[in-house]
Amino acid sequence: MMLLTRKMIEIRNMLQGVGQSGALTLPSIVVIGSQSSGKSSVLEAIVGHEFLPKGSNMVTRRPIELTLVNTPDAKAEYGEFPALGLGKITDFTQIQRTLTDLNLAVPSEQCVTDDPIQLTIHSPNVPDLSLIDLPGYIQVVGRDQPVELKQKISDLCDKYIQPPNVILAISAADVDLANSTALRASRRVDPRGERTIGVITKMDLIDPQRGVEMLSDKKYPLRLGYVGVVCKIPQQTGLFTRHGANLTNVIIKNENQYFQAHPLEFGPQSELSTGTPVLRKKLMYVLEQTMASSLAGTRDAIVQELEEATYEFKVQYNDRPLSAESYLAESLDAFKHSFKQFTDSFGRPEVRQLLKAELEQKVLDLLAKRYWNKPVEDLTRAPFEADPITDLSKSEPVSLFWQRKLDASTSELTKLGIGRLATTVVEDELKNRVSALVDNSTFAAHPYARKAIADAAESILHDRFYSTSDQVENCVKPFKFEIEVEDSEWTKGREGAGRALKSELKACENAKKQLEQAVGRRKLNDVIGFVDRVQKGDVHLEGDSSAGAGGFSSALLQTGRQAIFLRDRADIIKMRLAAVKSRQCSTLKNKYHCPEVFMDVVADKLTSTAVLFLNVELLSEFYYNFPRELDARLGRHLSESEIERFAREDPRVRAHLDVIRRKEMLELVLQKIESLRQLEGKSKAATGVG
Ligand code: GDP
Repeated sequence: MMLLTRKMIEIRNMLQGVGQSGALTLPSIVVIGSQSSGKSSVLEAIVGHEFLPKGSNMVTRRPIELTLVNTPDAKAEYGEFPALGLGKITDFTQIQRTLTDLNLAVPSEQCVTDDPIQLTIHSPNVPDLSLIDLPGYIQVVGRDQPVELKQKISDLCDKYIQPPNVILAISAADVDLANSTALRASRRVDPRGERTIGVITKMDLIDPQRGVEMLSDKKYPLRLGYVGVVCKIPQQTGLFTRHGANLTNVIIKNENQYFQAHPLEFGPQSELSTGTPVLRKKLMYVLEQTMASSLAGTRDAIVQELEEATYEFKVQYNDRPLSAESYLAESLDAFKHSFKQFTDSFGRPEVRQLLKAELEQKVLDLLAKRYWNKPVEDLTRAPFEADPITDLSKSEPVSLFWQRKLDASTSELTKLGIGRLATTVVEDELKNRVSALVDNSTFAAHPYARKAIADAAESILHDRFYSTSDQVENCVKPFKFEIEVEDSEWTKGREGAGRALKSELKACENAKKQLEQAVGRRKLNDVIGFVDRVQKGDVHLEGDSSAGAGGFSSALLQTGRQAIFLRDRADIIKMRLAAVKSRQCSTLKNKYHCPEVFMDVVADKLTSTAVLFLNVELLSEFYYNFPRELDARLGRHLSESEIERFAREDPRVRAHLDVIRRKEMLELVLQKIESLRQLEGKSKAATGVG
């Protein structure tokens, strides 16, 4: 039983799978012949179907690497173009159309290319063979063909008929063998005729006696000999392919009729090889033999490839094992670990700080709106009247005006929508922190994982949002009606307000400095002076100031107004800072004179209450569910191909995985080859050959 060819074809496919096919070429049978020599007919007789491109114009423009796989137990016959991913094609007319399209895709000025088309045919009716069909040699260049075409085809064929390939040289019987281009080409690369099989087609067209002479040719002796065939495809051919019937039997029947009609020349007594079945057997046998004798060379090539892969694995990857699964599992574990560390560092105190800072900002906004803002924005307005806030400390302790002002400010703060605000602030922070964790993890280079992680966080937080914000809102409700403050809280509030005012003061001063840097200190002072004079009424502007005034551009005037705003704001804050520090603000009794302190106390109470619920409703829930959600989205639920796709997103991981796969595949292939060699050795010993 012959299985070497089959095994070697399997090995070749394995190697192709890891992109290693080029490194070692397993022997194939290369089919050459002049145009119309009957080359296609012979191949189709072997396959049993018409499937090659036909037409008066030269249609074979690319080599067709044809792999025949015998599937004895299967009924169905089909072809596959592995590089195209079209799946199994059972209709051979479609295979023919695809081949024609692939050939025609070669630009006509190029005419031929050495980029091969791979086609595998699985059938119970084909032998295991690896054949390469090449463009037919042409004698005369057609009118619309480039002059160099003849040479191009010849060069292409020369490339393929090198050892260890077997040459199938097709010549038509009605042409003198001395004129056979195929034989002449073969002679050039195989002068002793050791790896060429001669096929004489169209035996029916010549006198049988002449046929005998050709088949026993002495002028071009071939060690593997000549086979005479009659492969004419019957007229009603379309019928066969269309109905999926097998051509081989029809051709053989026809062929037999011819050879049997001349028993004297081709009968059982004759030593000549004739007929397609004989040719098929010969091809299988010769290829098998060639494969056997190339085993040692193939083994050496594999060993070398393996050595290279092993070296690369060692040098580049320190022999570190890796699989897509282990990579994902490790990455996920590391990520979960970093998340755990984050949860330890982000708890109640941190949420409190975050929220308090947010509310402090809101308090400053409210204070500005209700206490500090001067209408300085409008240059053309009349000078501003005395600002009431400067009178705050001098007014009567229980002035209704200041009472209302503080009540309104407090009410606005408590009715801000603390529930939503607090929940949003914490959720945003969690998302940002998770995203920062991703940035610092192996997942950074994996868009797929990034999205899965972001989605995991988003889905949990989204689920918790409404209930959390409702809870928080409910719990701060009492503060909307009454706020009781204790002395200790007041003291703390004084400190808080002092801190907030100081940082606001710094922010104002910095902003002003930036304006100075942008415009120049002197110029800024000039324009400030001008705008001040306008505001005091010392200077009157006529008409519109949008084109500038007083020698200053409108942009500069705008900057001047900003600077004045910042200067005045800083003055007010300094004054308020002094007030907060003063004796007057040391006691709760004077709260209407110290709105900054009171508001800070309120903000602090709101924060404490909110944090209590945020911690339970949001943080703990998130910390518990997030790792589980990650498992669900990135862990065991992914399919093998999804895991593979994920791991290969990172080019470094892909290269690492590739080396390992290549190495493993080569090891496997080497094992297979070694066992084939042993088998070969045994059979040689058994037959006494070797
Ligand atoms: P290719 O150009 O070398 O592929 O040649 P084809 O296989 O297309 O054959 C060329 C022509 O020769 C076609 O018309 C075939 O029908 C015809 N032909 C092929 N083999 C035989 C044969 O054995 N006998 C006869 N009489 N005609 C044949």
